[in-house]
Amino acid sequence: MVVATMVCPSCKATEFRLSGLRFRDLEHLAVLQYPVRCRSCHHRTYGSLLLALVLFQLRRHHFGGKETA
Ligand SMILES: [Zn+2]
Repeated sequence: MVVATMVCPSCKATEFRLSGLRFRDLEHLAVLQYPVRCRSCHHRTYGSLLLALVLFQLRRHHFGGKETA
């Protein structure tokens, strides 16, 4: 499966995590962009909804299992 990679415009890192939604993000969601935050420099930017889904799956996998009973 090919996932579109994106690069942080600030530090060129390629690791992101999901960012919290704000009201103004709605206009980005309307064009299938989801707010993400760079893991390296914490720059907030927008990624594709596909990227957000991948990050969401990773997060769910990471937290799934033992920690929550
Ligand atoms: Zn960065």
